[in-house]
Amino acid sequence: MLDFDICDKARLDRDPLYDGSFFVAVITSKIYCRTICPVRQPLRKNVTYYPTASAAEADGYRPCLRCRPEAAPDSHAWNGTLTTVKRALRLIDEGALDSGNIQALAERLGIGSRHLSRLFNKHIGASPIQVARTKRLQKAKRLLDNSELKMSNIAFKAGYGSIRQFNDSFLEKYRQSPSQYRKKYGNNNQKKA
Ligand SMILES: [Zn+2]
Repeated sequence: MLDFDICDKARLDRDPLYDGSFFVAVITSKIYCRTICPVRQPLRKNVTYYPTASAAEADGYRPCLRCRPEAAPDSHAWNGTLTTVKRALRLIDEGALDSGNIQALAERLGIGSRHLSRLFNKHIGASPIQVARTKRLQKAKRLLDNSELKMSNIAFKAGYGSIRQFNDSFLEKYRQSPSQYRKKYGNNNQKKA
């Protein structure tokens, strides 16, 4: 799917053209980054590449606090992707898996749920559920960085069923609670990036 040498060159060049079309995962720190990350570059033997943030997160990687993968532009790599996958991504983005399940989503797309899972594994590198999880957390993180909304509003707007769920998944990926994060970085992370 991804060519290691092309990805590695883009990473070493910090090439903005590739921003969002794949992510750099650092095996030693278990953090994943955008190609443009300003942090010191890891050795070639310590990196691996993922086509999407969801795929990196599915493998246990955590988003970098410096380059903020959730702020990467939408990948143009999807242009060649199947319409069904694109439609599924849009529906998930609109919350199809926040309250509903895979079967319902697959039915809306007119395919079986196993076929849907296979398509996701092939094109996204993660399951639909993992994609929904990553998208929720990314939405919440952007709201945390760019708004002054209350935690309960952020959780709700991002698609979480409860603040507890929001807290748990934020803690898992950022090693701190959303309130600790907000205290540390303020409402507008751009100032400090
Ligand atoms: Zn980074």
